[in-house]
Amino acid sequence: MKTAFIYTENFMKYDLGKNHPLKPVRLKKTYDMIVKYDLLDFYVEGKPASEEDLSLAHSKEYIEAVKTGKDLEIYGFGTVDNPVFDNMFESSLYYVGASIQCADYHRAFNISGGLHHAKRNKASGFCVFNDCVILIKKLLQKYRRIGYIDIDAHHGDGVQEAFYSDPRVLFVSMHEAGKFLFPGTGDTAEIGTGEGKGTTVNIPLAPFTSDDIYLDMFERIVIPIMEEFKPELIVTQLGIDAHYLDPLSHLSLSLKGYREILIRMEKLSERWIGLGGGGYNIETVPRAWTLAYSIMRKKEIDFSKIWEEEVAEIKKYESLIQNARSFAESTYRSLKAEISEYFSI
Ligand SMILES: [Zn+2]
Repeated sequence: MKTAFIYTENFMKYDLGKNHPLKPVRLKKTYDMIVKYDLLDFYVEGKPASEEDLSLAHSKEYIEAVKTGKDLEIYGFGTVDNPVFDNMFESSLYYVGASIQCADYHRAFNISGGLHHAKRNKASGFCVFNDCVILIKKLLQKYRRIGYIDIDAHHGDGVQEAFYSDPRVLFVSMHEAGKFLFPGTGDTAEIGTGEGKGTTVNIPLAPFTSDDIYLDMFERIVIPIMEEFKPELIVTQLGIDAHYLDPLSHLSLSLKGYREILIRMEKLSERWIGLGGGGYNIETVPRAWTLAYSIMRKKEIDFSKIWEEEVAEIKKYESLIQNARSFAESTYRSLKAEISEYFSI
């Protein structure tokens, strides 16, 4: 089985401005690196989504506003995070379209996707349309149990909101805790509602959370609950802004830890859709997503030289990492109290 890689030069048009941290060139650099290392398994040219697709996650009024450029400020645009930009509607259609295309393959990666903050009626956190929600809604026409794992440094609030009462989607987000970072949500007490109670799981972490803490939490929480839920496939938001060199978050993941998480994801499900997400260090992003794609397609690239340096660098913060370790312990305890009724962790 081939692992599809969806790409188009049209991704470059999602350009929020010269001083904005979300630079589309990080996608081009990733694509170039994947080609350079001869990893491209199955190339798929990205196509735009339709307006009907958008309506799976967004209101008619919101779609119309983005399309026509009218009344945008009502919908969260015109801010530093979400400026109005040229080709906003058209370029967003390509991001969403590529995520939808992933649904056609056994394994697929859309590095432009993972825009997990966009809400039904609101642009948020650099995100215009929520491709994660649209993709999962599409998948739900065919599947009954979908696992969503979000390792972006920021809480996946838009995705959580869309499936908060839906028991068919097990939503799991590991992120820097809301009291330290945007969007402020993602507490352990947010576990879903109604029929969906117990299928939203949040793992807030403290600044300086490092590889071993991440892996410990992943193994003690994410793996057992996913194994118990038995998803037919997993959708993962693979943001790399938890990396210690990222300018927007305060977490201390290295490429080594990122790799370990990906290897565990790989074992969780044969059917796997990877989406991009955050990541604002222009050197780190292409490496991380090249590594991710190489693991998805079972032809892993060796970046150990790079991460050995990173791990040595991160060790210098050992006392701060200790605080993050105790924070994670208390997250584990409160999460266990919240979800032990639904999962045996
Ligand atoms: Zn993020």
